[in-house]
Amino acid sequence: MKKFFILLIITLISISFGFKNEVKNDNPFFTAWNTPFQVPPFEKIKAEHYMPAYLKGFEEQKKEIKAIINNPKEPTFENTIRELEYSGDLLNRVSRVFGSLNSANTNDTLQKINKELAPIASKSRDDINLNDSLFRRVKSVYDNRDKFKLTEEEKKVLEDTYKNFIRSGAALSADDKLKLRKINEELSMLSVQFGQNLLAETNAFRLVVDKKEDLAGLPEGAITQAASSAKAMKMEGKWVFTIQYPIMEQFLKYSDKRDLRQKLFTAYFMKGDNDNDHDNKTIISRIARLRLDRSRLLGYNSYAGFALERNMAKTPEKVFELLGQLWKAALPVAKEEAKAQQEIINREGSNFKLEPWDWWYYTEKIKKEKYDLSDELTRPYFKIDNVMDGLFYVANRLYGLEFNRRTDIPKYQKDVNTFEVRRDGKHVGILMIDNYPRSSKRSGAWCGAFRGQSRDRNGNMIYPIVTMVTNSTPPSADKPSLLTSDEASTLFHEFGHALHQLLSNSTYPSVSGTSVPRDFVELPSQIMEHWALEPEVLKVYAKHYKTGEIIPHEIVRKIDMASKFNTGFITIEYLAAALLDMEYHTITDTTALNIRSFEKATLDKYGLIPEIKPRYRSTYFNHIWASGYAAGYYSYIWSEILDADAFQAFKETGDIFNKDVAARFEKEILSKGGTRDPHDMYVKFRGKEPSIDALLENRGLK
Ligand SMILES: [Zn+2]
Repeated sequence: MKKFFILLIITLISISFGFKNEVKNDNPFFTAWNTPFQVPPFEKIKAEHYMPAYLKGFEEQKKEIKAIINNPKEPTFENTIRELEYSGDLLNRVSRVFGSLNSANTNDTLQKINKELAPIASKSRDDINLNDSLFRRVKSVYDNRDKFKLTEEEKKVLEDTYKNFIRSGAALSADDKLKLRKINEELSMLSVQFGQNLLAETNAFRLVVDKKEDLAGLPEGAITQAASSAKAMKMEGKWVFTIQYPIMEQFLKYSDKRDLRQKLFTAYFMKGDNDNDHDNKTIISRIARLRLDRSRLLGYNSYAGFALERNMAKTPEKVFELLGQLWKAALPVAKEEAKAQQEIINREGSNFKLEPWDWWYYTEKIKKEKYDLSDELTRPYFKIDNVMDGLFYVANRLYGLEFNRRTDIPKYQKDVNTFEVRRDGKHVGILMIDNYPRSSKRSGAWCGAFRGQSRDRNGNMIYPIVTMVTNSTPPSADKPSLLTSDEASTLFHEFGHALHQLLSNSTYPSVSGTSVPRDFVELPSQIMEHWALEPEVLKVYAKHYKTGEIIPHEIVRKIDMASKFNTGFITIEYLAAALLDMEYHTITDTTALNIRSFEKATLDKYGLIPEIKPRYRSTYFNHIWASGYAAGYYSYIWSEILDADAFQAFKETGDIFNKDVAARFEKEILSKGGTRDPHDMYVKFRGKEPSIDALLENRGLK
């Protein structure tokens, strides 16, 4: 029956994609990659190759699992856990390529495949996680763990594997397992739909300007860029602004046209909430409901209770406690900031109340007034190539890494930069950096890998192929890409994730690199942001794009002074989203869940001021509905306690490049991946528990 079901699915898919039934030989996923460093041969991979590769991948993994189950020998770590770790090779290969490209360079065909794939992948995962015979073997190894001679890493892999089975429902009754499968299948499809709606909504809106006077206040760079966007859309002579973040942000900061700011920002914060075909409200309430149902089945009160158990935070109460503490410190600061802006509005004789679409504009004005500093003043010093040199400089000083640009490595899009990473003359891995917004790329910034670090069965190193994706200010007709200091920090952030993957040194794939709890994973990334704006580092990379002049000391001083500016807003905007996430996922009754009123009631409860919108409203909160951060958006600030405290470890020595501290950070944290409990890793590095002081200090909230 099962076999028949799978055959049926294969047939259906073949029909819907017009595949021939025989497996074609030219599918690049079925042969070894003879490219430099076995980077995926992107130019040979066509959309029609994915589904057959996936199906064969599922099939191969199924055979491997069967072999584990049918092994007549008593279950051991080697014949069960280790074999599980090494199963699914083909599946891993295809899903890493497909997953990366579907986020960074998608199209209608890939989106269609993703939609068709979601339920099949969900079923295949459940076939493993809910398999009784397999679980019996895993449990037997776990119960007898003291009898085996295991390394520290193997003990962790075993414990993770066992707990993952339990958390996936392996110990449930047959009836409940069936319910769980249905829930998982539906959830997988809803997430895909959410993301696709969001991309469609982002691409659907254009602010077309046809009068020159409507460009008042905008910097030259923004105007030329808008003109070339218009040209590309066959509207030569006009200017087009989109709601892709860097483009919108620049418009909000500088446009003197209040009505246009309102129009653009409203389109941004109404994404997914327009009661049209791409509306996300029904999807969200359904996801919230299914997540609660699943958590209940597994014996938890709420989804957050389930999700947080394996994180550093452990319980929702702990998270609410931290968020509440910060909210209390930041809200009065944000209110003061709003007051200062209103004063300018009044002083200028304008008769209106400050609104969310005014915030960036007046913040920029105050920054100019107070520090004589603006993004436009600093942009020339943050040419993207120079910022990338800055990343490499810091990684070299700290960890001795070298980054050599290569032109012979396959890329999936022409803008991608490719580097070989080496240390002491030895290969470490490959790094790809993909920087500019495209309609084929989802918004935000992230880091992934086409291949993770691990060791093969013979102990040979498998080197990582890491990919870093951002949506940074693109070059225009007459200027290279010139970043804001925030965008420069974002590059440092993602680069920190990249280092976590590149310096990973584990044996088993499931605990390598960034395979750590959500509220720990931002430590390696966020700590890198500290170096981005250190005067000592700026002097190395922040050079004027035309003259090569090093950023003047005066500007560095201003950047430093302004770093505590607007932190009330930055903190509150973030916390509002984090609280929204936690409130959605601690709901214990979803029957009457109405997204608009739930969001409003939640934000009112905490007293969010109307001049500020949450960083993400519910309908475009990709992190929590489609990207693995459910009940986890708090992680950024949780990790910030760690990164602020960890950076202190460097500062205390009087040398931000202190070799001993860097070596300890690599040894205890970056190289360890998920092979140890994160709290233990941190204390081993720091020699003591983390303290929240450095975070409050850095944000000027003390
Ligand atoms: Zn991150």
